[in-house]
Amino acid sequence: MTADAPTVWLTTLGCAKNQVDSDKITGMLSAAGYRSAETPEAADVVMVNTCGFIEPARRESVDTILDVAGAKRDDASLVVIGCMAQRYEKELAEALPEADAVIGLDRYPELIDRLDAMRRWTPITIGTARRSHMDILYETRRPTPATPYAYVKVAEGCDKLCTFCAIPQFRGKQRSRNPENIRAEAAELAAAGVAEIGLVAQDLAAYGRDIDGPGIVDLVRSVTTVDGLRRLRLYYLYPREIRPALIEEMAGNPLVADYFDLSLQHTSGPLLRAMKRPGSGEQHRDLITRIRDAAPAAALRSSFIVGFPGETDDDVDDLASFLSDVELDWAGFFPYSPEEGTEAAVMDGQIPDGEKQERLRYLQAIQDEITTSRTIEQIGRTVTVVVDQVEDGMPVGRSYREAPEIDGVIILDHGEPGEWVTAEVTGGFGTDLEAVVRGPA
Ligand code: SF4
Repeated sequence: MTADAPTVWLTTLGCAKNQVDSDKITGMLSAAGYRSAETPEAADVVMVNTCGFIEPARRESVDTILDVAGAKRDDASLVVIGCMAQRYEKELAEALPEADAVIGLDRYPELIDRLDAMRRWTPITIGTARRSHMDILYETRRPTPATPYAYVKVAEGCDKLCTFCAIPQFRGKQRSRNPENIRAEAAELAAAGVAEIGLVAQDLAAYGRDIDGPGIVDLVRSVTTVDGLRRLRLYYLYPREIRPALIEEMAGNPLVADYFDLSLQHTSGPLLRAMKRPGSGEQHRDLITRIRDAAPAAALRSSFIVGFPGETDDDVDDLASFLSDVELDWAGFFPYSPEEGTEAAVMDGQIPDGEKQERLRYLQAIQDEITTSRTIEQIGRTVTVVVDQVEDGMPVGRSYREAPEIDGVIILDHGEPGEWVTAEVTGGFGTDLEAVVRGPA
């Protein structure tokens, strides 16, 4: 029997959407009386929120589970949650005897009851009736993140049919969240000092299709009326969903970062068709031109899959020319990973891993040069920077060009976390910039 409220330590792998789930689970646990532990060694319950997206992410999740299992006290409980738990619940439970419970996304409503039973803890605030209706999309988060930015999830699941992606299998069809509830969460975060909010979803620009309500443009307008919000960033825009009205809103609304996070995936028409994704290199170019016409200083990011079944050397060269022509600010390259249950996993023309890595290195090297030159072009410009943190005495922040945790950063001569400043960029190295603060922003 645990006399005091149990303590929980939770670590999160994967994307911003998983981080949002962890924030919400932390909120639920705190409402149920659980306390946070600083380290796995100090916790009664250690939890790993896993990522099940592709093979390297799953490997990292399993390594983390094993590390945490080794670090925790013998009498502490180990609970595995998240996408990988959802996707491989039974297999994980069998393969990892270290885990006391493996709880997938669908079973989050049972999560706290399971923990209570495990720790023999009598909850203090959440009633059983409410728990059984728990919906992670609608849970309020608590505590407020320590950073001046936070993500707000606006929908769960995806209606697209990309042949490489297993997400719809385990996250289900798109389920958009009620817009008032999204705005209320943004307002709560802004009131607590979070001035940059990132809207996230598997297919953000398709927000609202499944509900009788506003679409993404109206949602953006509504969220940007929140008091105290200074920057809204949109993540994961499926190219065909980027309609003129959305470009216009992003370019014209001063609170929306001119940051276009496109998921182009490839430029070869036949490969895109095999992926069941729209467009072609030409259409991608056209989209980028339209974005730059509307927002000349727009920062562009995209992700690409390398080594999809059937990809030829010509396809790789086609993508390489595209990168050189359009000069994206940032790009991520992922080796194609055959995911169980997806169409692409059983397609002919699978590419050997070594070849995928070679192609990836080739494309990455091209993009690295472009990213460096796009970064250096910023020197001499004056930008608005939010200070995220002070690291080894150096204030580290970001302008609209840099998304947290994924792009470069701006190192300032002074500044405090949460402060917004106007700064002049004086130098650049690799993906990062140096800037001198000229005044408050
Ligand atoms: S749009 Fe994204 S989440 Fe949806 S199926 Fe395609 S890759 Fe997967």
